[in-house]
Amino acid sequence: MNYIFYRNVKNLFKRLSQLILLTLCIGILVSFYSCITAPKPLDVNTKSFQDIKEPPYLKVVLTATLNQESFPLSVNSSFSITEHNKDAPILTNGSIANVYITPSPKGLMFGNTLIPHNDFDVWPDNDGAIAVNGRSYHGGLWVHALPENKLAFCNIIDMETYLQSVVGSELTPSYPLQALIAQAIAARTYGLFEIKSAKISGRWFDLRDDTGSQAYNGISSETVKTIEAVEQSRGVILIYNDGLFKAFYHSTCGGYTESVKDIFNEPEIPPLKGRKCNYCEISKFYEWNTALSKGDVTQMLLNAKLIPAGSVSRIEITATLPSGRANVLKLHLAGGKTAEKSVSAAEFRAALGATYLKSTYFVVEDLGNAFRFYGRGYGHGAGMCQMGAVGMAESAISAIDILQYYYPFSQMVKIY
Ligand SMILES: [Zn+2]
Repeated sequence: MNYIFYRNVKNLFKRLSQLILLTLCIGILVSFYSCITAPKPLDVNTKSFQDIKEPPYLKVVLTATLNQESFPLSVNSSFSITEHNKDAPILTNGSIANVYITPSPKGLMFGNTLIPHNDFDVWPDNDGAIAVNGRSYHGGLWVHALPENKLAFCNIIDMETYLQSVVGSELTPSYPLQALIAQAIAARTYGLFEIKSAKISGRWFDLRDDTGSQAYNGISSETVKTIEAVEQSRGVILIYNDGLFKAFYHSTCGGYTESVKDIFNEPEIPPLKGRKCNYCEISKFYEWNTALSKGDVTQMLLNAKLIPAGSVSRIEITATLPSGRANVLKLHLAGGKTAEKSVSAAEFRAALGATYLKSTYFVVEDLGNAFRFYGRGYGHGAGMCQMGAVGMAESAISAIDILQYYYPFSQMVKIY
């Protein structure tokens, strides 16, 4: 009897200890999982951001409309038109399709209706959207008259809604969530920096909708996952020394990111100093090569006014950056007054275009009638390597660790 009792008690203890061990394991797994899914920003006292209580509004210029003499827009709901930055409507209307906006001596023509102002805003009712150049947008539209009878449209959009599209415009939404979260935080930091720099410099818009700032395709690039990435990181930005910094990023570094000083001649700070990257080999642009005839290269350089005349017979890389990216090139010319011309690799890449020369990380082979460029990576090379971030996320590395890797010594804070 005593023996059976003893055995039962022993079994009970054994099961209890198994249960405790199992609970402990589940606890560890749950905390590990939550660590890798949601960023936990550090609680840093950021006085500089205390006045930002909610997502700020951005003015994003739709580059297809920039400097146009006339451009159409559509609204899929009823809407009102106000003077720029005013509340009182000066015109209300039902939905419209392809109504042209054209500058005139007395203001702006909205189809056949004169709006007697150089600037006005269009605000759809309820959940309506504005369509411009085949893309639909949330928020409002600022129609802005430029000098010499030109105009530009700017989407007026709150930061969080804007980012839901930027994340999907910059990255394929099927990439791991942690990469999308890292992208959302980098893009929020970049966007906020540009709002500030527009205020300081007097620039009339905050950002462009292309690679001149951040890609932004409007509603079509929003998905359930991009929305989740933005919601999970709501209000989270990166700072350095208690202030904003321009969180540059690019598609693929090809092995090394580069100092912002060497790429953009901007002050070098530890988060933008450049570092080795072992994660972007998954990118289809990790290695590439492209051939161009000497005639085409010459024509592209003449068009960009990088050479005065003659034809390019040889390209010599005379200086490289620490990563190995080309920095300065010597162009040997034939048939003109000048025998050679030194140009920066960045100018050279801009002249040939990013489609042909995906980065400045290249060497040149002379094929006789043509040049073959063997290169690595895609983009300018400063800041976060986006495909590296994807590679890290695929190895179960969290958004926090991805951002710490590409922007070392930065801090993560939640400002609203
Ligand atoms: Zn990389």
